[in-house]
Amino acid sequence: MKFYYNRTKIVATMGPASAKKEVLLSMIRAGLNVCRLNFSHGKPEDHKRFVDLIREINSEYKTNVGILADLQGPKIRIGLVKDGGIHLVNGTRINITTHECIGDDSQIYITYETFPQDVQANEIILLDDGKLQLKVIETNRKDTVICEVVHGGILTSRKGVNLPNTKVSIPSLTPEDLENLKYALEWEVDWVGLSFVRTGQDIIDLKRIIRESGKQSRVIAKVEKPEAIENIDDIIAATDAVMIARGDLGVECPLEEVPLLQKMIARKCRDASKPVIVATQMLESMITTPRPTRAEVNDVANSVLDGADAVMLSGETSVGEFPVIVIETMAKIVRNVEDLGYPFNATKAENKDTASANYLSDALCGSAVYLAEHTKAKGIVSMTVSGYTAFEISSYRPEAGTYIFTSNKQLLNALSLVWGVRAFYYDKSDSTDETIADVNAILKEEQLLNAGDVVINTAAVPIVKKGKTNMLKVSVIE
Ligand code: PGA
Repeated sequence: MKFYYNRTKIVATMGPASAKKEVLLSMIRAGLNVCRLNFSHGKPEDHKRFVDLIREINSEYKTNVGILADLQGPKIRIGLVKDGGIHLVNGTRINITTHECIGDDSQIYITYETFPQDVQANEIILLDDGKLQLKVIETNRKDTVICEVVHGGILTSRKGVNLPNTKVSIPSLTPEDLENLKYALEWEVDWVGLSFVRTGQDIIDLKRIIRESGKQSRVIAKVEKPEAIENIDDIIAATDAVMIARGDLGVECPLEEVPLLQKMIARKCRDASKPVIVATQMLESMITTPRPTRAEVNDVANSVLDGADAVMLSGETSVGEFPVIVIETMAKIVRNVEDLGYPFNATKAENKDTASANYLSDALCGSAVYLAEHTKAKGIVSMTVSGYTAFEISSYRPEAGTYIFTSNKQLLNALSLVWGVRAFYYDKSDSTDETIADVNAILKEEQLLNAGDVVINTAAVPIVKKGKTNMLKVSVIE
C-alpha cells in the first residue's frame, strides 16, 4: 500500500469528518503526519476514540502518525444570549457582568471572574474573532464593566472574547485544561499544545506537570497573543515546538502584522532547532468546495518557503466536506515548493554557542548537513535516543533525506512533526561498524537508498553508552 511522505509535515484536526477508519487511513496515505485533538470541542471519549483509531492504523500499517492534544488554555467566552442572538448597535452602551445570566442588549456574561479588576478604561474588547468590537468606558472593579459598542452586529451565544490590551490574570492552565491534560497524558500523546501562552514560565509549568506524571509528551507553545510576541525568545527557549496560531493572533495583533510575525517566528524557531507549525485558514474555502482559492495555495506555499516544519488544517478536516482531497491538495502544494530545494543555513552553523553543553554535537550535526551538501549525499542517517540529533539536523533543512533510527518507541511518532524526518525503530546495539552497515542496509531494503548512494552516518560512540552524538562517517551503499 502506497503512502506519500512530504518533507514539510501536515497536521490535521480530527472531527466528525475524519472519524471513519477508511477516511483517516486515506488521509494518512495522502500525507497526513500528525492528528490534532482539539480539546476546545468534543468530549474526552470522542478524543479517545481517535487515539485508539490512530494507534490501530499505526500498528496495522507500520506508520508513525503522531497525536497532538491541543488544550484550550485561558480562552475567554461570553455566556448564553437571549433568543440565540442579540443585536449590538454602534454607539450604544452595554454592561459586561461576571454574574451568570442570559445576555440581552443591556448586559452579557463573561467567563472571567476578575475581568472588572484587570481591565482599564479605553481598552478594546473583541468578540467573535474580532467581528464585533467594544470599548471599555468604566469598570466598578467588582462585577461590572460598562462598554460602548464600536463595531456592532449580531452576537450569538458562547462566542470567544479577545482582550488585546488587557493584562489577563487567568492562570495559563485552567482547571479544565488540567483535567484534559490528565486524559492526554494517560493516553501518552506525543505532543501537548497550550493555547494563549504568555511567557516561557507557562511552558515550564506545563512541562513540570508532564515530568511529574512520568510521561514523555512534548510541548507546543501556541503563539497567539501580543504578550507572547514580546516574550518570544523565552518561549522558544522553554518549549519543544511552536504553533503560529494565526486565528487568534490575527485578532489580538493588527491583522496586517501577521505575515511578518510568521516569518520572524519561523526564523527564530529554525535557528533554535524547534519545530514550527503554521496554522489556521490555510485551505479554509475547502471546507465546502473541492478546490482552494489561489490566495490559499499561495499561503501554503509561502509558509513552506518561510521555513515551516508543518502546516495545519482545522475545520477543513474536522468538519469539512473533503477531508481526503484537502490533504492531497496540501501535499501537492508542499511537494511542488520542496522541489526547489533549500539553502544550507550557514549563519546558523557559524553562530553556534560555544559555551553550550551541546556545542560539540551541534557542530557535528551542522557539519553532517554541510558534508551531505558537498558530497551530494542521498541520506543523513542518524542514531538517537533523545531525538536531539533529529531536531538539530532537520533545522538545517538538508537536501539529503533525514533518516533517524531510535530505540525510543515514543520518539518515532513525535518526530512525525519534524521537517524532513523519517524515523525507524532500531534496538540492536552491536559495534558501530555493524550498526552502520545494518541501518544502511535497512534503508536500501526500504528502497529509500540505492547501491552507490553516498550517505552520511552520525552516532554517539561507543554505541552501547547512549551518549551525545560525536561521530560522523561517509559511506557508500553497497
Ligand atoms: P485554535 O488555535 O484552533 O485553538 O483557535 C488556532 C488559532 O487560534 O489560530
